[in-house]
Amino acid sequence: MISIKNDAQIEKMRAAGRLLYSVLAELRQYVKPGVTTMYLNKIAHRMITDAGATPSFLGYEGFPASLCTSVNEVVVHGIPNDVPLAEGCILGLDCGLVLDGWQADSAYTIGVGNVSPEAKRLIDVTEECFWKGVSQMKIGHRLSDIGSSVQAWAESNGYQVIRALCGHGIGREMHEDPEVPNFGKPGHGPRLAPGMTLAIEPMISAGGYDVINDGWHIATKDGGWVSHYEHTVLITYGEPEILTLPIALAHAAEAGR
Ligand code: MG
Ligand code: MG
Repeated sequence: MISIKNDAQIEKMRAAGRLLYSVLAELRQYVKPGVTTMYLNKIAHRMITDAGATPSFLGYEGFPASLCTSVNEVVVHGIPNDVPLAEGCILGLDCGLVLDGWQADSAYTIGVGNVSPEAKRLIDVTEECFWKGVSQMKIGHRLSDIGSSVQAWAESNGYQVIRALCGHGIGREMHEDPEVPNFGKPGHGPRLAPGMTLAIEPMISAGGYDVINDGWHIATKDGGWVSHYEHTVLITYGEPEILTLPIALAHAAEAGR
């Protein structure tokens, strides 16, 4: 069942979302060649706990860190380690927290030092895929309209959508109904309604979409690099609100694209 959040609950999700934004924004300045993903994890963990929130990834099904750090062909669930980041790689940072009982979930992919034009384009198109999906999050649209738009934009740019993983409802729990695939035909699934909160998270591959799983790390089978971009989004009576962006950008960001 898809839960509808009331105004008081949405206000709490805003607070959680804005805190998570501040954590992920802070991390950007530390991403450079030679830095370890474990160091980034420590920063994220400290910022979350200092703010009185709880990292939702830590201990989730046994995950050992507060931040997922996924390099190059790793799609998601990369475990932070002590290997220095190499110039030219791409790093997915995915983080979640719970504040006052309410969850926020957000991710982005960032180039480490100087990256190739191909890598930069993959990152940019993945963010564009997210906004294409969000543009469908309006009253009366159906759930599959989101993934259909994501897929169309990815494939028109020569990329593939990872099929094995998807977005999700979010609220008191990190993963709630419904699942939000990043592919499919439009016009299917539940109608979208105000008060629904969904984590929209395209995972876009420069190679194929088949994945392998070593227990935690999920990576592309053919080694194609993957970019991941995610926000927690509220459906309203008007434009969707991005809960994991600062207020100034929460409504305006899409208009600027
Ligand atoms: Mg996430
Ligand atoms: Mg998520």
